[in-house]
Amino acid sequence: MAWLHSNGYEGVTLDQVESAWYHGGTLPANPIVITFDNGYPEQVTFAPKVLSRYGWPAVLFEITEEHLRPFEIRPVIELGWEVDSHSVTHPDLTELSGQELEYQVAASRRYLRRKFGVPSDNFCYPSSEYDAATIAAVKHAGYVGAVTENAGYASRDLPYELDRYEIEGGDGVAGLAADLEGGN
Ligand SMILES: [Zn+2]
Repeated sequence: MAWLHSNGYEGVTLDQVESAWYHGGTLPANPIVITFDNGYPEQVTFAPKVLSRYGWPAVLFEITEEHLRPFEIRPVIELGWEVDSHSVTHPDLTELSGQELEYQVAASRRYLRRKFGVPSDNFCYPSSEYDAATIAAVKHAGYVGAVTENAGYASRDLPYELDRYEIEGGDGVAGLAADLEGGN
């Protein structure tokens, strides 16, 4: 985060990016969306301490039936984080259809909207598994966008296949910098 900050990046939410892409909203010169998948305790305890040094929000993709409890999620919403759906139980969505698929995609969003009063306009495919039927279900549930684990920059032209760079601990600052510089 210190490297990003000193290189001119500014953390924003995915909602802010979509507002700029589709509704004339504004973004800083070098926006970056920091995302966390699944909902692990350190994502809402350790990560906010680091990000708050720069006044940056992040996006938390929560598995709504597991992982974090409401009292753990509310503080990051207070900090301006975006909380979105990562399905109800993290199944391979390409193996589901009909009501089961609809439940995983739509019920998770309904829960977040009702419980926290947040829009939850973005979805994260569990294990980055998705196909045309998955995308159709995500669109039907009213999401504005959805993220994958395909390495690359997100594009406004593919709102339901927004690429990301996965940064593991072992990648370090050098790995992060190489991803950002080598991106499309
Ligand atoms: Zn996941």
